[in-house]
Amino acid sequence: MTDRQAPTLLWLRRDLRLGDNPALHAALATGRPLVPVFVLDEVIEDLWGIAPKWRLSKSLADLSRRLAAQGSRLILRRGTAVETLLALVEETGAKGVVWGRQYDARAIERDSAVKAALKDRGIEAQSVNASLMFEPWTVETGSGAFYKVYTPFWKAVRGRDPGTPLDAPTDLSPPEHWPASEDLVDWGLERAMDRGGAIVEAHANIGEEAALARLDTFLDDRLATYGGERDRPDIAGTSNLSENFATGEVSPRLAYWRALNRFEGLSGKAADSAQVFLQEIVWREFSYHLLYHTPHIVERSWREEWDSFPWRDDNEDAEAWRRGMTGYEMVDAGMRELYVTGRMHNRMRMLTASLLTKHLMTHWRIGEAWFRDCLIDWDIASNSMGWQWAAGSGPDATPYFRVFNPLTQADKFDKNANYRNRFLAEGRTTPHQDALAFYEAAPRSWRLDRAAPYPQPIIGHKEGRERALAAYQNRRG
Ligand code: FAD
Repeated sequence: MTDRQAPTLLWLRRDLRLGDNPALHAALATGRPLVPVFVLDEVIEDLWGIAPKWRLSKSLADLSRRLAAQGSRLILRRGTAVETLLALVEETGAKGVVWGRQYDARAIERDSAVKAALKDRGIEAQSVNASLMFEPWTVETGSGAFYKVYTPFWKAVRGRDPGTPLDAPTDLSPPEHWPASEDLVDWGLERAMDRGGAIVEAHANIGEEAALARLDTFLDDRLATYGGERDRPDIAGTSNLSENFATGEVSPRLAYWRALNRFEGLSGKAADSAQVFLQEIVWREFSYHLLYHTPHIVERSWREEWDSFPWRDDNEDAEAWRRGMTGYEMVDAGMRELYVTGRMHNRMRMLTASLLTKHLMTHWRIGEAWFRDCLIDWDIASNSMGWQWAAGSGPDATPYFRVFNPLTQADKFDKNANYRNRFLAEGRTTPHQDALAFYEAAPRSWRLDRAAPYPQPIIGHKEGRERALAAYQNRRG
């Protein structure tokens, strides 16, 4: 092989797209043939839950098809990242490896080890920003610290130019000889979804093309009303792009950039709405800012003092919560939405997390783990931040004494019960198909009886609230 034929490996991770992919551009800029690679590595095996792995597999299949349509391939390998990439370098004679950065402690540790091993062998290793607009170390307070509160973070970045999105390349510069690839089906990433997979799939929007179409539909139909409708689980008022951001099928920069262009042409309420959407995308950036600067947010209470709170470990009430059987219709509808669609409306995430951590005084990590297993948009930064926000243990969190009332939340955000009717079958003469699908998707071991009456509330709202507040007061001494 001549030196010019030696390829560059593009190590894809959470950037499974061709458009606006700086890692792909950096790899092509080496001027060498391109070998796109995905490694099912130790971090994914250890950290990712059931639904995210299922969703990942769908995304990989889509990207493989897209690459093949352009004369390229996605090479799949399973193993520890260092060993697998070194083996591929050896097999292909690659001179360099390029990847998009990730920001959690496990990924950083893995990537540092890969970089060191490649450099030791004289192989070029290049990491670039491929999934954020503002990398965590580029946003600082006046005193050079990181931000712990969202609003000043937003103010610091809102005028910044995140750069113009990059077009998808047309020439993917394939090598003369391809290394062998493993078979996606053999990885069994979909297996653990059991019979729920087909049900969730009907609600998923898989792949780059679908993601871009969804973005455009949202910008055309919903951006101008987003501000008023984003809090309503009973209507389709949000973008539903989180599953696409989570796999990297579309970049947040592209969504932000397109929304910003629309925003500039809007006025009055519509402009306010568009601004709220931009702010929400920046919430995602903020979660990565926190994740990078305070990596313990994934595993321990962000505010250390919360580790001494009398959290309950896993318990029967938490199990009823997971099964959508708390007796609070709004909460149960949310938990069933999660099971049937692999998603949950943001308001419902806040409400269900509040009930678990406050009324049921169950450790936020129990809920975080359940979401990690069930969400097709699972994102290590947003999920950790969201749970710690709801529990009160995070930075910029809701105060512990603000306990969501599951009854008034229903009155306020689901006035006509459309949302509850969509996901709950009990007491409905002609239940919605999504309400019935829950019984299909739920594990048989739950022994759900479709004819059983709806349960009584697991704990009274007043009682649960008072118990949580008393524990909170005692903790403070
Ligand atoms: P839109 O309302 O259309 O917002 C556009 C984008 O902005 C979203 O796709 C998302 O990337 C970002 N965004 C919006 N709200 C938030 C937020 N509160 N925090 C961070 N980013 C936000 N989001 C995830 O992507 N993955 C998770 O695992 C996740 N877990 C959560 C757990 C809890 C307990 C809570 C309270 C929130 C969690 N969120 C998570 C945040 C939020 O609920 C989702 O991002 C949102 O519901 C996705 O729907 P959408 O794409 O229609 O959002």
